[in-house]
Amino acid sequence: MKFPSLQDREIENSMSQTDLKKLSERDKEHLWHPLTQHQTAAPRLGINKAKGALIWDEDGNEYIDGIASWYTAMYGHCNPYITDAITKQMKTLDFVMFSGFTHRPAIELSERLIEILPDNQEKLFFNDNGSTAIEAAIKMALQYHHNRNDKKETLIAFENGFHGDTFGAMSASGLSSYNGPFEDFLLKVERIPVPQEDNLDEILERLRVIIENNSCAAFIFEPLVQGAAGMKFHSAKGLDTLIQKCQENGVLTIADEIMTGFGKTGKNFASDYLVNKPDIICLSKALTAGMFPLSITSCTLQVYNAFLSDNTSKGFFHAHTYSAHPLGCAAALAGVELLNSPEILERRVAIEKAHKLFASKLKGHQKIAEIRTMGVILAIDLKIQTDRYGSLRDELYDYFMSQGVNLRPLGNTIYTLPPYVVTDEQLQKIYDSMEAVLELF
Ligand SMILES: *Cc1c(COP(=O)(O)O)cnc(C)c1O
Repeated sequence: MKFPSLQDREIENSMSQTDLKKLSERDKEHLWHPLTQHQTAAPRLGINKAKGALIWDEDGNEYIDGIASWYTAMYGHCNPYITDAITKQMKTLDFVMFSGFTHRPAIELSERLIEILPDNQEKLFFNDNGSTAIEAAIKMALQYHHNRNDKKETLIAFENGFHGDTFGAMSASGLSSYNGPFEDFLLKVERIPVPQEDNLDEILERLRVIIENNSCAAFIFEPLVQGAAGMKFHSAKGLDTLIQKCQENGVLTIADEIMTGFGKTGKNFASDYLVNKPDIICLSKALTAGMFPLSITSCTLQVYNAFLSDNTSKGFFHAHTYSAHPLGCAAALAGVELLNSPEILERRVAIEKAHKLFASKLKGHQKIAEIRTMGVILAIDLKIQTDRYGSLRDELYDYFMSQGVNLRPLGNTIYTLPPYVVTDEQLQKIYDSMEAVLELF
């Protein structure tokens, strides 16, 4: 296999001469953007090109994609190994529905994923994005109990978790300051704090009381790292104990690996750090190497078997039109091949090492509350007060962009989760911009 050049910078500006108005101007006419208060927000930046760890705006300015476009493009943008796989697939079989039919890309992907997923995972259910993977997982858990004539309606979730923006996922999410209008319509959820070194007994007691006083269907969690909460880490040992307690009490466990999956934490999956493997695992984002919206809800045979019956209605009657899209599967298959290729493994190790070195350099800095790293994730909690989408947060974001680095602070946390193909130079530029930010306040 020919590995794509990491330094392919021969990017021509693709803006056509007939574009008289800037993209950022034309955008305002008809587009409504996610997570945006359009009354006050600055105009959106027009992006023309992306390659490797770099993106270019319509004026030709270059930015390092320090968060791999929301943790998706881990093998670099427009990676020819991925684009070739998709191109080849789209000329053979573009799309066909996945109910009644099956196809080679989905089958081969399932075979490859089962090899690298935790051993207890046996069956893969396809969806089309992260939130719908969670939605399917929650419905699976509820129906699992229902099919066994056991009505259970409560979910257990971590405080400050994030699982997506559809109703089930939003219910499970604890970052609810923007969920106000919907609160009356959410599922029933009991929350526990994440396990740290010193609070496990307390959480176990709380979990015991929750399980005793509710009929709990499932415990859903982001394993080891809560991404949207600000790349907050928790104890693998503690999580292991919580999973064990749930499993002993017939509560299904759902690991949301949408952010952590595919090498971000150092291992293929964060669940690889656990002894007690979750019953259900949700995958998306880097699953398709940043190329295609697709997701998977995987589960054990025990979960799957609860849906087998002569009675049709005990089946899982849940579908998305574009389930198991062949192009997404082809991208995912190529991505899984790259994940543990020598070239990518070398970079994963190098980034982890560089992060640790940078963290030890900044440790104890007077403006830093905490600096932490795991795998290719590096996060710094700054000693400042700012809202999740507050103005100081916006200033930090603007500063990073002015330095040619795309980093999106989460409240007072600045972090990087770069694509594996980021070069040493680019990584240094990310670190330099983070250090420079410390001088700003
Ligand atoms: C991004 C994310 C989701 C939601 O995925 P979407 O594709 O944006 O719906 C769910 N859980 C976690 C941990 C995520 O990072």
